[in-house]
Amino acid sequence: MNYGWFNEDTSEQEFSRTVIHEFGHALGCVHEHQSPNAFIDWDRDAVYAEFALQGWSSSDVDNNIFNRYTAAATEESLFDINSIMMYFFPGRLVKSNVGSPVNYVLSVTDKAMINTIYPFQTRNAGSWSTLSDRPWYPPVSLNAKQIDFSPHTQLYSANATWVEFEDAAHEYQTGTFDTQSIHPWKKPQKKNSERIKFKRGVYDDTPNVVVWLSGFDMATGHNWRIKVYADGIDKDGFTIHLDTWADTVLYAAQASWIAYPKENQGVSRITSGSDDTSKYRPWYPAQEKNGRKISFKESLFDKVPKVFAALNYLDFDSAKNMRIKASTPQVTTDGFTWHGDTWEDSLCYGVGVSWIAFG
Ligand SMILES: [Zn+2]
Repeated sequence: MNYGWFNEDTSEQEFSRTVIHEFGHALGCVHEHQSPNAFIDWDRDAVYAEFALQGWSSSDVDNNIFNRYTAAATEESLFDINSIMMYFFPGRLVKSNVGSPVNYVLSVTDKAMINTIYPFQTRNAGSWSTLSDRPWYPPVSLNAKQIDFSPHTQLYSANATWVEFEDAAHEYQTGTFDTQSIHPWKKPQKKNSERIKFKRGVYDDTPNVVVWLSGFDMATGHNWRIKVYADGIDKDGFTIHLDTWADTVLYAAQASWIAYPKENQGVSRITSGSDDTSKYRPWYPAQEKNGRKISFKESLFDKVPKVFAALNYLDFDSAKNMRIKASTPQVTTDGFTWHGDTWEDSLCYGVGVSWIAFG
């Protein structure tokens, strides 16, 4: 970057013009007047003479003014005389005698172009805990920010995670499933499923689908067992399942889902998956610390991605309180370790998480 002529008296406009231009170079932009789409009718002798005044040789002028990049070597817009990457040229350097304006800020095309090369981060994720608002004791049944439990349930503390996508990013579809849409809670079923249909025409191929638990209501006196999963995924939809097994009484449960194009895994640096303890250990005996390392596909991320993780599987002994916390405290560019940990005397026979990582 060449800021050699800046001094105490440099105007704000000059700082703007030069600093934005030089940062354009830092991001990989070349001069607009050397675009494959620039066809300027230079008065070549006048240009050589003009730049000789500041010490440029004729080859300096050729390299910085006249020579154009090939279309094969660049990603380019139509020629944009208002681009911050355009030099100011007075009319006397051009045969038509029409020079270029002095551009101080990014043009509309500059913004559109750089947005195609460096897409805006339209995704985010985070978490929230009741412990940030109140102590774990005494328990309350109504918790702000949408972790609500019915009045006979004692909730000591809870955590929520969230993930968001730009509204316009319609290839990311989201939704929820509530077993009460297929049967009332008073008539519990072990297997609950529903066919979810995507918006028509969004996917040309089978997308990736991520599902996780967002709520449940299970009877005491039987162990608490629940899992959510998706199958039958095609470009039109998938089947979501919220199941329990053995003697568990599942009155109701809710799940959330996200679908996104598989090809985004490469270009948009997003990947996802699910894992649970049944894939690497028997359910008995119960374990306090659960989880294992997940590796990303090699060189998918060049920066540490954000990881959203949420529970998709629980198997707890109802003789003790249920305590579970899912987390991904150690994320690197290569992968992360998920944890589904419990504490005190809780008995965790199984736990699982669904996750989305994006950079
Ligand atoms: Zn430059």
